[in-house]
Amino acid sequence: MLDMHVHLIGHNDREANRENIRAFLDEASRRGLKEIGFADHDYYWEQMNFSLIREVAQEYPGLAVRIGLEAEYRPHEEGRIKHLLEQFPFDFVIGSVHEFDGWAFDYPEEEPLHWKKDADELYRRYFEVLTLAAKSRLFTTIGHFDLIKIFGVRPRKDILTLADEALSTVAEQGLVLEVNTNGRYKPVGEFYPERRLMEEIMRRGIEFTLGSDAHVAKVVGRDIDEASQLLRQIGVPTVVGFAGLDKVSYKLD
Ligand code: ZN
Ligand code: FE
Ligand code: FE
Ligand code: ZN
Repeated sequence: MLDMHVHLIGHNDREANRENIRAFLDEASRRGLKEIGFADHDYYWEQMNFSLIREVAQEYPGLAVRIGLEAEYRPHEEGRIKHLLEQFPFDFVIGSVHEFDGWAFDYPEEEPLHWKKDADELYRRYFEVLTLAAKSRLFTTIGHFDLIKIFGVRPRKDILTLADEALSTVAEQGLVLEVNTNGRYKPVGEFYPERRLMEEIMRRGIEFTLGSDAHVAKVVGRDIDEASQLLRQIGVPTVVGFAGLDKVSYKLD
């Protein structure tokens, strides 16, 4: 299978050197992945080393090694991201919303504020910004679609209503959504997105990719088999990877 969301540098935890690249690719090979996609946070742009990834990848002929980016989407900062994307021929680009209105909401310290806010308003505003991300034409993929649930706060309104416009935009723009297995290891304790959303995504004909969101080598590919089995159960026939911004289709069987 494939893992299209791994962070070689983590949160600036290590260098993009040969040894660290090999650790990620060794784990991918050990787990039998066919394709792996590096997608470091745009914050660590200066620390990235794409040519070294390309070089080390040649030691792994059985593994398709892709290079992407996880870009922080903020309204009115499209130019900044566009500029980064002009610097390298990325295979894929994940647009993620980890903050809005100056609030980086996914840090553990922010949990109390999640419980204090109006849950419906929290979800409404998150999906509003996510919709703008999907409209921006900067990305191939939208990351962890329902990240706002990270601490387990649930809306009173139906999630399908709250996510409706974001999903329509994703479908219109031909964007791909990931099953991101990392949510299981956050307080919410489940994949992003939740199962009802997965079913709705499939119903709307939106394509899926898979990602562990590994920030360390040893969790590359974590729960990816389970995620692909879940998609197959729901009735999703294929998942996609990316090469040079083009989708590469893998049959789920
Ligand atoms: Zn991260
Ligand atoms: Fe993220
Ligand atoms: Fe990530
Ligand atoms: Zn992520």
